[in-house]
Amino acid sequence: MKRSFLPEIVGSFSTGAAANPTVAMMAASFAHEQLDWIYVNCEVDVDGLGPAVEGAQAMGWRGFNCSIPHKRRVIEYVDSISDTARICQAVNCVVRTSDGWVGHNTDGVGFVDSVRSAIDPDGAGVLVVGAGGAAHAIAVEIARAGAARVEVAARDRRRAEQLAELVDAATSASGGVFAWDGPISVPARVDLVVNATPVGMTPKTDEMIEFDFDSMSRGLVVADVVPNPATTMLLRTAEQAGARTIDGRGMLVNQAAENIRLWTGAEPDRTALRSALDAALE
Ligand code: NDP
Repeated sequence: MKRSFLPEIVGSFSTGAAANPTVAMMAASFAHEQLDWIYVNCEVDVDGLGPAVEGAQAMGWRGFNCSIPHKRRVIEYVDSISDTARICQAVNCVVRTSDGWVGHNTDGVGFVDSVRSAIDPDGAGVLVVGAGGAAHAIAVEIARAGAARVEVAARDRRRAEQLAELVDAATSASGGVFAWDGPISVPARVDLVVNATPVGMTPKTDEMIEFDFDSMSRGLVVADVVPNPATTMLLRTAEQAGARTIDGRGMLVNQAAENIRLWTGAEPDRTALRSALDAALE
């Protein structure tokens, strides 16, 4: 493909942008799909969000990702939001349309896409550990994908209760709080366990949420949101105990694919995205 002198522009606004590998996936995918698009990864602090969105508007950007700390506040700057973004009150992907900026939340979609290779969410019992942004997106989207029950374990019980209440109120799944006071023994009603905390992430790769791993021997599916390392200590230990495991890179790849689809209309090759992510993080 011959690049024009005026490619379509998308990008990202966050702090800690230098550690965000999404730009590597986007560049590789745009080249692979022969799209004359570029992705600009920008360091934008809290006060810079409004001017950044105005700048994107003025420069004709086709959309942008928002990461920490902007996922909630960006809602003030968009013209409408998707159902999942409204339920989670968080937006990570903004798309320019003829009706203005539309905010989406693709974190949860990316997660659900990545677990489908191991489990059908329809009717599943899910235990989510953590009650932050990733946990919200995952709990809501897996419930919208048909999960029967979503239980939440968090060290701050009040946050677990709030997320469980949200699942109950906004989706057809039943939400519940999972009492967490020691190594988690996974009950038979749970088919999928998700670590939605940063525990185990580089550089603290020898840490993990404590489980009674004997309770995982029945072919339970264990997923981690941590993208680096790909195989966290939790996933390694769960696999040794007999669980099937899903790494956090799949979630990143699938949400990037969803973002590209929303911006460009193309269905990008996910293998190319995964290869680019692995290369960027190794
Ligand atoms: P938040 O800060 O919003 O939430 C983190 C959650 O983890 C909170 O519930 C927090 O509890 C809990 N937590 C943190 N440390 C511990 C601990 N030592 N023990 C128990 N619970 C703990 O972060 P996010 O939800 O945005 O991100 C969480 C992880 O998900 C990060 O590692 C991030 O990189 C990853 N992520 C991965 C994505 C992917 O595509 N793979 C996408 C988005 C995020 P408390 O409230 O008590 O502090």
